[in-house]
Parts: sequence; C-alpha cells; structure tokens
Amino acid sequence: MINLKLSSILTTIAEISKFKAGEKEIVINLSKSARSIRDYDRDIMDAYNDGTLEDMPGIDPFSFEIIKEYFETGSIKLFEQIKEKYPEDLLRIIRLSGIGTKRVFDIYDKFNIKSFEDLKDLFTLNCDTKKLAESFEIENLFLERIKHSVSYYESQRGRYPRWLILKFTGKIVEKLSSMNEISSLKVVGSLRRRKAEVSDIDILILPEFNNDDTNFEKSKELIDRIRKSYFVKDLISEDIRRENIGAKFSTIFDVNLEIIITSKRSWPVDLLTTTGSKNHLAKLKEIAGAKGCFDGHLFNFSQIKFKELKKYKSNESLFEDDDFVCPEEKQIYDFLGLKYIVPELREGFDEVELAKESYLPNLIKLKDIKGDLHVHSNFSDGIMDMKEIVKKIKKYDYEYLSFSDHSSSNQYGNGLNQNRLTEKIRYMEELNSAYNKFTFLMGAEVEIDDDGNLDYDNSLMSKFDIALGSIHKGFKFNAQSNNARFEKAMENKYVDIIAHPTGVVFKSRAPYFLNVDYLIECASKYGKALEINSYYLRLDLNEENARKAKNAGILLSINTDSHRPNNLDMIRFGVDIARRAGIEKESVINTLSLEKLKKWKSSR
Ligand SMILES: [Zn+2]
Ligand SMILES: [Zn+2]
Repeated sequence: MINLKLSSILTTIAEISKFKAGEKEIVINLSKSARSIRDYDRDIMDAYNDGTLEDMPGIDPFSFEIIKEYFETGSIKLFEQIKEKYPEDLLRIIRLSGIGTKRVFDIYDKFNIKSFEDLKDLFTLNCDTKKLAESFEIENLFLERIKHSVSYYESQRGRYPRWLILKFTGKIVEKLSSMNEISSLKVVGSLRRRKAEVSDIDILILPEFNNDDTNFEKSKELIDRIRKSYFVKDLISEDIRRENIGAKFSTIFDVNLEIIITSKRSWPVDLLTTTGSKNHLAKLKEIAGAKGCFDGHLFNFSQIKFKELKKYKSNESLFEDDDFVCPEEKQIYDFLGLKYIVPELREGFDEVELAKESYLPNLIKLKDIKGDLHVHSNFSDGIMDMKEIVKKIKKYDYEYLSFSDHSSSNQYGNGLNQNRLTEKIRYMEELNSAYNKFTFLMGAEVEIDDDGNLDYDNSLMSKFDIALGSIHKGFKFNAQSNNARFEKAMENKYVDIIAHPTGVVFKSRAPYFLNVDYLIECASKYGKALEINSYYLRLDLNEENARKAKNAGILLSINTDSHRPNNLDMIRFGVDIARRAGIEKESVINTLSLEKLKKWKSSR
C-alpha cells in the first residue's frame, strides 16, 4: 500500500498548495506524479531502489525529490509541516469534500476541530446542520458536504480496491502454488465474486494429504509452514471446525489473508460456501433443507457422486474466464434444480429465483467490448502518445478507440482550447490514414460548468465522433442543482455519454450530491448513455446504480478513463461491475460495431 500512501501525500501537498498563487505548474506536476505512483504495477520502493523511478514517465524532478526524501529519511518535511496543525484524516476530508482547503480549514477553526473524533462528534447522525450553519453563519451546504464526507470516509474503512488486492493475491497464490503439499487452491470470497472493493483475501486449499477427511494434525503443520512465508506478518487466529481448518493472517501487504484447508470430500461444498455470499447461501440452504441436504449448520451432499475434482493452476486459481463453469459447483446447482450461477451474481438478490426458471441474464463478457470510448492522450493529461496506445490494446481485438481529452476550462487536466483542438484533429486525421482496420475516434470529455453549460459551442461539439459530458467540480451544489446541470448538458444533442456520473473517487472524493434516479430518468428522456468508469479508483457507476440503470432500460458505456498504459487493462473492472449488476451486452453501446455505434450517434 506504499504506492497509495505516497500518492496520497503528494496529492495532499498539491491540494494545500492550490490556493497559493503562481503554483499551478507544481500542482499539475504533483498530481501527475501522484497518479503515476498509485497506478504503478510494482511497489514504488522497488523502482526507487533499482534507479528507475527518476526516469519514470509522469514523475517530475520536484516529486522525485519528495519521494527520495521519504525513502531516505522516513518522512517528508513539507508534509510534516502541513500535518503540524491538522492530523492526516482531517486533511483527507479536504479532498473528500472537494469544497476547498480554505473553506474546510475555516470550518475546523470555527468549531475548534482538532481531530477526526471532534469532527465525528460534531456531525453525529442526527446533527442538524441547518441549525449549526445558522448559528455559526456558514453556508449549510458546506457543512452538509463535510458531514457527507465523514460518513463516506467511515463507510470505506477497511476496504481496498480490487485491482490492488489482486496484485497482492497474485503474489500469495504464486508462493502457495509452489508448495509441494498443496495440490489445489482457489481464491474465494468477495474476490471470486469480483466485488469492486474487498476487505480481505480468502484462499481455499486442498493439500495432497487430505483425502476424504481432514487430517487436522498435518493441516496444522501446513498452516505453520504458510505462517513462515515471506508475506505473512502474524497469525491472527486459528479456527478448527468439524469439516476443515481455517487461519487468519496479517500480511506485509496490510490486508488480512484467510486460509481454509479442506479435504477432498469437502472441497466442492467448501468452494461454494467460502465463495458466498451469505445471502446467496441462505437461499440455497432453503432449497437444500427441503431436499434434506442441510442440517441447520452444514450442507450434506453425500448423495452427489462428485466427478474427479478439477485441479486449479496458479492463474486459474486467481481468475476465472467469463465463460468458466466450475464443474464441482455445477453438480451442486444441478442437484438443487438450478442453472449454474456465476460467482458475480451470488448476492442473494433474485439470482436463485431466476436460476430456477432458467431466466438468468446472459451476462456481458470482456470480449464483447469493441472499443474504449474514454481515453486521455498526451494532448491533455494522459502520458501516452496515441501511437503507443495502439500497441497496448492489440490483445483486446478492439475496432475503435476514442481519445476523449479534457476541454478548455479543465486547467488541471490540461484541457484543450480551440487551437489545440484543431491541432489534435489534424494529428488524428494523419494517424487514421495510417490504419485501415482500426479507427481512432475524435472524442472529448467536455466540462459541464456550474450552470450546465458546455466548454465548447455547437460548431465545435459537432466535430466529435463521441462526446462525453462530465463534472469535476460539483461539490458546492445540492442534488437539485447538480441534476439541473446534467439535464441542461443532456439537452445538447452532441453529448453522447455522461462520464463517471457520481464523481466518486475511492477514498479520495465522496460522490457529489446527486439524485441518481433522476439522472437515469434524464438519460432515458434524452437518449444518453451513462458510463461505468472502469478506472480502479472510480468504478462509477457502481453496481447498485448500474443495476438501477439496467432496470430503467437505459444504455451504458464501459470505459477505462485511461491516463496511463496499464489503465487500459482496467476495462475488466468495469465489465465486472456490469456483470454483477446483471447487465447484458445489448445494454452497452461500446459492444456495438463501429458502424452501429455511428448509427446510434446519428439517430439521436
Ligand atoms: Zn473525468
Ligand atoms: Zn477522463
């Protein structure tokens, strides 16, 4: 988590410097570096140690010096100075609320807030911010925003983004797979269900010495050996059950690991039960109970003659293909009279009822995506040249990709004015003439201003193959105003997609006030698509809102919002949100061929 920690420190330094005049360049560079660090595939300390950090794309000399200071001295003077007055979690609220450093500091001073606890005390659940605002002569909305940020911050405690956890899990799986006595292992729990945010890593292990029953002594020895692995910090607890044995460890990755050691006989059932979710299992238990296969505590599927158990290779343990049907679990679902339910859908909504009637959705797959409609090139704040991107997306078999650089008023995103837009159009014409099987679309991520106006007039808007409308500064408005801004933007016929609709950034920005139901209504009325932003810290729409959008029958677009090469691969996470929301490919516009996509655009 060092990458996230350092990236957060750089962002805080950038935030606090924002209101000092003449430091725009520093802020842009710090933000760019922060992004490079948080999206870096390896541990940033490794890059520092092997000398590659200094020349890493996106890292400027000022940021490099800050990081160097951290690795050499264990702290950063500039950051320590900032922290002198307010602790880190209070500084975090500045970013979460988005209402400005000075305003938040004023509020802290007025209410004599010295710690996060003070803030929580002030904004208890039933606190009347209106009354508070009146007596202290502060605008109520700013207090509401801080209250909202505090509760968002609290709700995210102990949760981590899946992209990051998968990296750590990969390392753990690799190590465990190399242990001779482990014959099969599988990542289970919320990671297997592809939840966007997870709180720990669960791994089910079948050792070669456990046949029909668990050999508890040998299993305990195996736990002791795992405990000695480089990634384990400490054993937190051990749990011996009737049928298997579990152990929870803290790890060097700052996320807990739970190991469940099972036997051949219990493997199929344990696979199902450790994958969860609780609500899904509760529904299965009802059906199993009626068949006499659940005794109030355990499933008993002794009536099923399980075929030879599948052996999972290291990669298969971590990722399941979209088409994968787990053979052991399929036998259980068959026995219960249900169609196989993929882990993504096992949340106890309506999947069991649908599986009874064979009405399960035909979920969208990664391979259905025909192109990414939200990518930033180095014309705005991306670090990639368009030609570099072509190489990176070869594996996806895309037909098109849209460069949706920021628009003029987005200063921190190096937005394009009319002249630079003309330059980009010329560059892209040249680029497209060099490719005949692939099309680069002229796109833009157009800022929606406080009043719902767009940065570009219609003569410019008409030049885009795909135009995204988005809000990056919606934090000092109430839901009604933000909805009105979106509605006005949607009235413009050239806007195709609303990008990252709620503005949330994992642990960095609480969503702005917005009535998502009304936004969905407007998208339906004006024929716009809403985005599922796949960038691992955004994931916006989230699965709950994506489900609402699906139920309302509106169209979606799954994009990466890439600024860096490895962001392009994060399309997986957007597709997984859609899968968890029960979305089929027909609801997603970028599963269309280029020809059909253009038709969709011109028909509206
Ligand atoms: Zn954006
Ligand atoms: Zn963007």
